[in-house]
Amino acid sequence: MPTTVNAYIATAADRPLEPTTIERRDLGPNDVEIAIAYAGICHSDIHTARNEWNGTTFPVVPGHEIAGTVSAVGEGVTRYAVGDRVGVGCFVDSCRECEPCRLGEEQYCERGNTGTYNAVGRDGQRTHGGYSTSIVVDENYVCRIPEGIALDVAAPLLCAGITLYSPLRHWEAGPGKKVAIVGLGGLGHVGVKIAHALGAEVTVLSQSLKKMEDGLRLGADHYYATSDPQTFRELRGRFDLILNTVSANLDIGKYLGMLALDGTLVELGLPEHPIEVPAGALIGKRRSFSGSMIGGIAQTQEMLDFCAEHGIGAEIEVISADKINEAYDRVVASDVRYRFVIDTATL
Ligand SMILES: [Zn+2]
Ligand SMILES: [Zn+2]
Repeated sequence: MPTTVNAYIATAADRPLEPTTIERRDLGPNDVEIAIAYAGICHSDIHTARNEWNGTTFPVVPGHEIAGTVSAVGEGVTRYAVGDRVGVGCFVDSCRECEPCRLGEEQYCERGNTGTYNAVGRDGQRTHGGYSTSIVVDENYVCRIPEGIALDVAAPLLCAGITLYSPLRHWEAGPGKKVAIVGLGGLGHVGVKIAHALGAEVTVLSQSLKKMEDGLRLGADHYYATSDPQTFRELRGRFDLILNTVSANLDIGKYLGMLALDGTLVELGLPEHPIEVPAGALIGKRRSFSGSMIGGIAQTQEMLDFCAEHGIGAEIEVISADKINEAYDRVVASDVRYRFVIDTATL
């Protein structure tokens, strides 16, 4: 028998989210049932709930930054036991057969990964996310949250954390490397912490100097305002890696100009309009312009272990469920330092 659980649901793009109940599937042999303790609010949740990407099938329960404890396991489960601290990120399944899946890059599954919400699972049922008291997920798509991190500050690591960790590792951020993070928000602030812990020299490029004190406290070595034209002149040819967490359309040529020889600029957000790249900014210093999307399950586990080892969690504001709609407006207004996390006990 499916289990009925409490949740917060979006029923239409122009309506606030509201409390409801949903059903979770029966526990399959490889499934774990997770009692969700905290769910982070990611900007993607808002884009989906408000149908800003035009791909939402209503109703939908958002939430793909999930942290909790295992409350039941299927008979074939080997990795987890009741009581284990676990997390679930942006997807809950993939084909498991294609090249990316075999390489542990399930996020790039050729048949498409199964989103944690607003998707259809292999059982034919629509998936619903973490704004709920419980979720059932195949154990292969669940990660362990080490004892070293509290569940509330761990939740945002499942999307924001891995979104930054994966490109930092792929482009080998570490000692001797100069890394810039564009935007000090939900994504960027975790990126600063991780890049610093990896040993890189970290620069924040923010619109203004308003959050400079925070940035330096979180581990940045330098902090510049992109509203100041002098910044782009001063930092010309400086960085090995620039991670852009800002979804607005930036003047990419100016940012490419801050890359050193063989440097790479990586897009992590989804700007509304196509990006114009001046070729001259690339060929002059063999620069690259790339993109990256979350990370695979094995790397997400590696990220959680790394964060536990270095005492890294997200900077959060815990809210009760009845504040979700207000929190959405505040995220859109950049009025949060730096991630809202829902206490699911209030659902
Ligand atoms: Zn997200
Ligand atoms: Zn696949």
